Amino acid sequence: MRRRDFITRIAASAGTTYAVMQALDLIEKPATAQKSPFQLQRRGGSKSIIILGAGLGGMTCAYELSKVGYQCKILEARERSGGRCWTVRTGDKFTDTLGQTQTIGFDRGQYFNPGPARIPYHHVTIDYCKELGVPLEVIVNLSRQQYIYRENAGSLSGRKVHFREAIADMRGYISELLAKAISKDAVDAPLTVEDKEKMIEFLRTYGGLNPDLFYKGSSRRGYSTYQGAGDAPGVVDDPYDLSALLELGFAGNESFEFGFNQQMTMFEPVGGMDAIAKAFEKQVGRFITYGAVVTEIRKTPDGVQILYKDKSGNVKQETADYCICNIPLSVLKDIPSDFAPDMKEAIASVEYAVTGKSALQFNRRFWEDDEDIFGGITQTDQDITQIWYPSTGYLSQKGVVLGYYNFGSTAETVGTLAPADRVALALEQGSKIHPQYNNHFENGFSLFWSTVPYSKGGWAEYTTDVRTTYYPRLNQPDGNIYLCGEHLSYLTGWMAGAFESARLVSTQIAAL
Ligand SMILES: Cc1cc2nc3c(=O)[nH]c(=O)nc-3n(C[C@H](O)[C@H](O)[C@H](O)COP(=O)(O)OP(=O)(O)OC[C@H]3O[C@@H](n4cnc5c(N)ncnc54)[C@H](O)[C@@H]3O)c2cc1C
Repeated sequence: MRRRDFITRIAASAGTTYAVMQALDLIEKPATAQKSPFQLQRRGGSKSIIILGAGLGGMTCAYELSKVGYQCKILEARERSGGRCWTVRTGDKFTDTLGQTQTIGFDRGQYFNPGPARIPYHHVTIDYCKELGVPLEVIVNLSRQQYIYRENAGSLSGRKVHFREAIADMRGYISELLAKAISKDAVDAPLTVEDKEKMIEFLRTYGGLNPDLFYKGSSRRGYSTYQGAGDAPGVVDDPYDLSALLELGFAGNESFEFGFNQQMTMFEPVGGMDAIAKAFEKQVGRFITYGAVVTEIRKTPDGVQILYKDKSGNVKQETADYCICNIPLSVLKDIPSDFAPDMKEAIASVEYAVTGKSALQFNRRFWEDDEDIFGGITQTDQDITQIWYPSTGYLSQKGVVLGYYNFGSTAETVGTLAPADRVALALEQGSKIHPQYNNHFENGFSLFWSTVPYSKGGWAEYTTDVRTTYYPRLNQPDGNIYLCGEHLSYLTGWMAGAFESARLVSTQIAAL
């Protein structure tokens, strides 16, 4: 018997923990699952870098590169850092590119995230929250109590269908059909007799079927009268008809939370998403010049020259060895530059998501008080598309609900309305689901990302063609200029895209 096998057996028989054995170096340590922290190697530390934009991408580059001695300066057009990572609170003013100004009327303590609102458990964003001390809480991305509400969906039109009802019933019917087909040998699949038995057993549990393999409803779909004490067993309604559920057409809503980037556990920073931007600002704020609108990006024989307008409208310039450009392509395409023609073509080729959001403050949390909804997202085929219930401040008096979050042509139609009319539309459509809107609304806010200055769109949306033809070019430096941001990743529309891109670009520069 070899020494290692011998010791391993002793450990097992004597009940000695493997940890002790490993500490004594008696057995091999298993390959560690511990993530190694991101750390640049120090190289060329005296080089200067001008970063255009104090979004998460730009600030992360400054954070990582300044740690290893690079001299960083950041030019930021806005009066704040964070770019799309943004939270609005009482008294904040927002003016869009059409000159329409809104002042946030929420109560103190209430807030709304017009851009990013949720962080998947596996994103690098979580790592930075840990590194920079940003407290997180869970955001409920899926609640079984939330509704599907459709106006053009057959017999369930205009009815508030709880997710749990629709999911339990559909699972039941699918399981019933499949179990029967298998038991009648009507499935064209290479299953052994044993496989078939196991599959039917699986479906019986999965779908909540009765012994005859029929789905007749289940308490999984909830009680119309809740269970209680004494003579109160609770009432379980009959299931919806299969054809009614098919007409409801909720497959996309149901499978949404299956997506890798939408699965629970999902997080949000306590107090607002801008806590992440503020944590970075604490680290790199000293490098940022605010109100500095970049107007020209030029190459010089040994570096870069950037022209910008300061707060007073004066044109100023900065020179540096390298430039990291964090400006979204939707804005960058209109800035005069020395980018090579193929780079200019690539920059102009990427479309941005058309999307809008609104927020409504109510003086009573009727969704909790009256409807037992705690977080989650109601889905509807109306223009408002979604209603998000807050995952914070449970059981308190007031709350801010997301009144709509829409996309594409719907967002365009709603977004072109005046801000007050968008809020009115959110109220009118939302009150069909929650009539309480009419009695408890206090104030609202809305925005259309295509008219948000210095963003001009939601996030980069690549077609397969553009990803193949132009994305590789965008990832290559042009002279000493590197592009950085969510648009330089496969995580577009996520803060993690900006972080991953910043790490990649910082690594490339540090390796020069
Ligand atoms: C509606 C919406 C919902 C989202 N939801 C989520 C979510 O739930 N979770 C998630 O992780 N992500 C989400 N995202 C995506 C996330 O917000 C972005 O991926 C991320 O914030 C992008 O960071 P960035 O640094 O690449 O760009 P930005 O944040 O856009 O930073 C670019 C910076 O450049 C500055 N700038 C622009 N023009 C100039 C100029 N001429 N001169 C100087 N500075 C300039 C801008 O002011 C800005 O600060 C959402 C985005 C939107 C719009």
